[in-house]
Amino acid sequence: MTTHPSPRHHPFWTDVARLVQIETRAFIDGDYVPAADGRTFACINPATGAVLGAVAACSIQDVDRAAAAARRSFESGRWSRCDPAVRRRTLIRLADLIEEHRDTLAILETLDTGKLIRDSATLDIPGSADVFRFFGEACDKLLDEAVPVGTGALATITREPVGVVGAVVPWNFPLKMAAWKCAPALAAGNSVILKPAEQSPLTALYLAGLAAEAGIPRGVFNVLPGFGPDAGAPIGLHPDIDCVGFTGSTEVGKLFLGYAGRSNMKRVWLECGGKSAFIVFPDARDLKAAAQAAAAGIFFNQGEICSATSRLFVHEDIRADFTALLLEAARAYMPGDPLDLASGMGAMVSAEQTQRVLSYIETGKSEANLLCGGGRVLAESGGSFIAPTIFADVDPRAVIATEEIFGPVLSIIPFRNEAEVVSLANASIYGLGASVWTSCLDRAVRLSRALHVGSVSVNAVDHVDLRTPFGGVKQSGNGRDLSLHAFEKYLDLKTTWISIGEAAA
Ligand code: ADP
Repeated sequence: MTTHPSPRHHPFWTDVARLVQIETRAFIDGDYVPAADGRTFACINPATGAVLGAVAACSIQDVDRAAAAARRSFESGRWSRCDPAVRRRTLIRLADLIEEHRDTLAILETLDTGKLIRDSATLDIPGSADVFRFFGEACDKLLDEAVPVGTGALATITREPVGVVGAVVPWNFPLKMAAWKCAPALAAGNSVILKPAEQSPLTALYLAGLAAEAGIPRGVFNVLPGFGPDAGAPIGLHPDIDCVGFTGSTEVGKLFLGYAGRSNMKRVWLECGGKSAFIVFPDARDLKAAAQAAAAGIFFNQGEICSATSRLFVHEDIRADFTALLLEAARAYMPGDPLDLASGMGAMVSAEQTQRVLSYIETGKSEANLLCGGGRVLAESGGSFIAPTIFADVDPRAVIATEEIFGPVLSIIPFRNEAEVVSLANASIYGLGASVWTSCLDRAVRLSRALHVGSVSVNAVDHVDLRTPFGGVKQSGNGRDLSLHAFEKYLDLKTTWISIGEAAA
């Protein structure tokens, strides 16, 4: 008789989960408050199906209140016109607080999204603190410009915060995506209204308390949980919100462009979908490392990543060998309890997203050869888990090779030469990232120039660093998160031209 070990919850994290206090109210004008109409929605742990809390379901009245508070705080100048050294110190203090509260934030992130505690505790939460520290440190080192226009005038170009910024973010990296938008916007002196995704509001709500503790003035940072059409659309349509930073689907990104057109032409910065290519040439210096990277590129975070390398282009000459290495590497991603440090993947974020991915897998079964995975696992847990799934011999025009699945589903597409793979990789409505594996320097440079995407990783996969910009071209969006360039989205340029009169004799 075989015995099945019970789920190996890590005792430390189980204790943290038991003790954690879940904040479910919105944060408006410096206070935690219920939604104006008192409505709530159930926040669910996707790894068990259990309800974690009843979270405020914000709507247009809450957006109006938050926008008014944000505008008041902006006009007061307490944050927008203070010495940037004050913003620097405050945001660095916030980064420190995020680190001090790492365990609580990590458990909230994992309970809320199903992602591995291993990743929330070591990547998501410390990575978010790093982002606040980076933009905090940078904000008092942005210099304005004086233009050489001759002796008759003084021309300056100065940067000014745009005003009230809406940040509408997704559920795959809730705290990190909030940090990517809010940190540069706040550092630049704006007031911010953050709307977390309805699937994952908990860390954003906790962050609001830390922001107040760090000293961000009342009204400068507001958090409105709620559904897209109820809380997201009023942000997009609001006449007194000056800018929106959005990460999410291409479909909703297009809605935000429409909202801006129908309201006040607010600036809209979009980081949307992707179908990134992972390209392996026979001259890659270490095929095993490449196969491990290919597995990580699609199975990390359950494949719920906009820049996931979901199309794997393998040169015909190494197709069999590389596929064998990839199948071996995929074994490290068997799903399990997110609180078990030995699990390879966590739960999918929701039952709805699971159904969406499963329906793509069914389509894939009619379009290509299923090599591994292909369905739901651990159903007895009450949670939503999908096995790492790989399809081979995929036609580049197939549904699974062209549409964003946002799950652990990889399509292997063979190619014969460089020109062919560039054309296949570029034949996508998306242009977020690409990964190229070769030891030929010339080829690496040629490919990085030819691929129409926002980031190319060579002999690395989806390399994201807060010092370098992240974002896409085509229908992957516009504008860039991270790096000093992120400031550009949240600052306007002002020209001042001063004619200088002659000195009196
Ligand atoms: P995903 O497909 O990854 O769930 P979405 O684009 O649906 O991504 O969601 C990203 C963010 O956009 C979330 O905060 C969500 O609530 C918000 N959102 C969804 N639908 C709308 C909408 N119709 N208008 C405004 N915001 C929306």
